[in-house]
Amino acid sequence: MSFETLNLHESLTRALTTAGYTAPTEVQQRAIPPALAGQDLMVSSSTGSGKTASIMLPALMRVLASSSQPRPPRGTVAGPRVLVLTPTRELAMQVAKAAMDYGRFVPHLSVCTVVGGVPYGLQLKQLRGPLDILIATPGRLIDHLESGKAQLGNVEMLVLDEADRMLDMGFIDPIHHIAKATPKARQTVMYSATF
Ligand code: AMP
Repeated sequence: MSFETLNLHESLTRALTTAGYTAPTEVQQRAIPPALAGQDLMVSSSTGSGKTASIMLPALMRVLASSSQPRPPRGTVAGPRVLVLTPTRELAMQVAKAAMDYGRFVPHLSVCTVVGGVPYGLQLKQLRGPLDILIATPGRLIDHLESGKAQLGNVEMLVLDEADRMLDMGFIDPIHHIAKATPKARQTVMYSATF
């Protein structure tokens, strides 16, 4: 199978060529088509399998699809279309880097991370601005939700990355709380090494 058969936007196939990828990995072949079709998914896959691209390519396709819609008026906080929850700050940073790499040719792409252990200031500024993809650890996102600074009413796709680790770390209640703040009609995609 080649990347062409996945029918990705030209800006994404160009980024994949730039990255030197010639063909999708197994998880990419199996997870990207149903993700693009808007299905909810539970994917069993570990680090090193190419799972981050299988999350980010459909996420970026959503961003590209919404970029043809009118931008919200200045001063309104629209909130992200895609929300990715990760168990750790390190993983959030890796996922954000992948989003920027695969999205390098997507015009005006805005990716923000909201993680613990770093000052609130920059996060608050980014949460107020135009935002396509938000990557967050559950604890810090809950802080921003409770203070009314995070707006999740426009989330179309919720991704739980390393869901098994998040459950092991006791994030079940925060995840429920966050999911409740997103629209019911969203797509939910769950990645886990084990189920
Ligand atoms: P991940 O499982 O997402 O952590 O990815 C593991 C590594 O595989 C990363 O360094 C990616 O850059 C790389 N990778 C992802 N997809 C492909 C692909 N289709 N072909 C070659 N390398 C890839």
